[in-house]
Amino acid sequence: MDLKAFIKDVPNFPKQGILFKDISPLLKSNTATRNAIEKLAEPLRELGADHVVGIESRGFLLGMLLAQELGVGFTPIRKPGKLPGEIIVETYELEYGLDTLEMQQNAIKKGDKVILHDDVLATGGTAMAACNLIRKCGGEILEFNFLLELENLNGRKKLRNVPLRTLLTY
Ligand code: AMP
Repeated sequence: MDLKAFIKDVPNFPKQGILFKDISPLLKSNTATRNAIEKLAEPLRELGADHVVGIESRGFLLGMLLAQELGVGFTPIRKPGKLPGEIIVETYELEYGLDTLEMQQNAIKKGDKVILHDDVLATGGTAMAACNLIRKCGGEILEFNFLLELENLNGRKKLRNVPLRTLLTY
């Protein structure tokens, strides 16, 4: 199945100069979503992951389905102020300014094996920050897992030393 047919290019969104990859048509198609999850899950089945961790907010959509497909739990990494209880915080640099991600402290235990999922790999800054949160808890990342990758932004270079897989490359 050609999953690229279900990703829509939206020029100049959310701001001028950005070519936004809209996954809404994929989500709207049960068959395409099913196919994406099967393809994402297939190489992961024997890895023995304990959790899938997804990054707010589009990382929740396929990340949760992937966790279900693998028969493991799902942990959300969220934008600031959304999670109750003890949290750990990671601040990282964007092109202009800073951003912050949070995770519940008890979500991941020392030695847990984690698949880290998001929809799009762009510069890799968000995934790197999420990786730092998981490592602060003593978790081990088995794989960085994305639906699609924007190759020209070189996100892969930032995420060395851990296997990285994307279904679609642009
Ligand atoms: P990154 O630059 O890799 O830190 O990406 C930041 C976040 O924005 C990720 O969660 C991506 O899902 C999202 N993102 C970045 N660029 C795009 C794009 N061109 N289309 C859709 N989502 C994007």
